[in-house]
Amino acid sequence: MTTQALMELDHQYVLQTYGRNPIAIDHGSNATLVSPEGKEYIDFAAGIGVLSVGTCNPVWQAAVKAQVDKLAHVSNLYYTEPYVRLAEKLCTRSGMAAAFFGNSGAEGNEGIIKLARKYSLDKYGPGRDTVITLNRSFHGRTITTLAATGQDVFHQYFFPFTEGFRQADPDLASVKAAAGDDVAAVLVELIQGEGGVNPLDQAFVQQLAALCAERDWLLLVDEVQTGIGRTGTMFAFQQFGIQPDACSFAKGVAGGLPMGGFLVNEKCRNVLTPGTHASTFGGNPIAAAGGIAVQEILSDDMLRQVQEKGQYIRRRLQEMAIPCLGNVVGMGLMLGVEVREGWTNRELCARLNEAGLLALTAGAKLRFLPPLTITEEEIDKGLDILQKTLS
Ligand SMILES: *Cc1c(COP(=O)(O)O)cnc(C)c1O
Repeated sequence: MTTQALMELDHQYVLQTYGRNPIAIDHGSNATLVSPEGKEYIDFAAGIGVLSVGTCNPVWQAAVKAQVDKLAHVSNLYYTEPYVRLAEKLCTRSGMAAAFFGNSGAEGNEGIIKLARKYSLDKYGPGRDTVITLNRSFHGRTITTLAATGQDVFHQYFFPFTEGFRQADPDLASVKAAAGDDVAAVLVELIQGEGGVNPLDQAFVQQLAALCAERDWLLLVDEVQTGIGRTGTMFAFQQFGIQPDACSFAKGVAGGLPMGGFLVNEKCRNVLTPGTHASTFGGNPIAAAGGIAVQEILSDDMLRQVQEKGQYIRRRLQEMAIPCLGNVVGMGLMLGVEVREGWTNRELCARLNEAGLLALTAGAKLRFLPPLTITEEEIDKGLDILQKTLS
């Protein structure tokens, strides 16, 4: 079907909740995608950080195909091998104790919020249930994760929102000012993704971890975008010198299949007991087989390369000195590029997309989240398009 025909059918039969670009993708390989008309795009978006190992990665494909031929689903009333092996890998590489599997980032965050409230209720009784989150954060689209999100534009239309969230700025004084006797946990993204690729200050994060330990608040980290190697370590918290009580994950975990969930430490492993939390599709064998392949592809050496590729992109952007672009921020292959006055990130992004480089926006910045397996040749092709289009 042509791009034009797809757009017409979409407009007729699909809810118009997305601001889609006038671009369709038919197939691809690693960070190179192809439209139905045969036009090539270099992928600096990775399905918003989902395609951690690229499109049609052969190792991932083989693992998923083998699982499709074996078993698609059995429910969580029984054991299956893929989710067990994936849980072992995620725990081993994060220093966490146990995993829960669901389907999305919002569901992962709902899970760690439930974890924090039950932990507090079990230990201290009712009335200690507030979760402090940060301004400019993003935690998802369910009623509860919208309430957790620290951006007022998300607090519209869908009243009443879930109670028990309070926002603070990313500094210790602001967090302390927001805290009463009713706090159960703090939930943060270590690099705010949707809010504009805003890395938190390392010293603040460590002070926050100490404050949480002192007051027995759970430290919850939303690693939905930063996790699974995106920043050059399996989870971003590994570069901040902290160990959270729980962290959520989703986007890149299964390399393109829908999966989300969370990891908890030893202290929290017995909080959620049978009957208190569940997800019908959670730990689905096909998604989990994809997840295991992602873990195998993202070796420690590959994660080092993620850091190097990120450095390379930063260096080249600096050398190009494109007038409409400013500083580059972020970690690994989660990069935000400031846009100078007189330009908007939306118009620059639309021009890049049209020119054959799929990029993203976040806050007021351009955002790049390429597949972690992107080749140097693909990076160069993408940056050449960027230079030609924006210079
Ligand atoms: C994308 C994202 C979410 C929401 O994930 P969904 O899978 O869309 O529910 C939550 N938190 C962060 C940090 C994200 O980047």
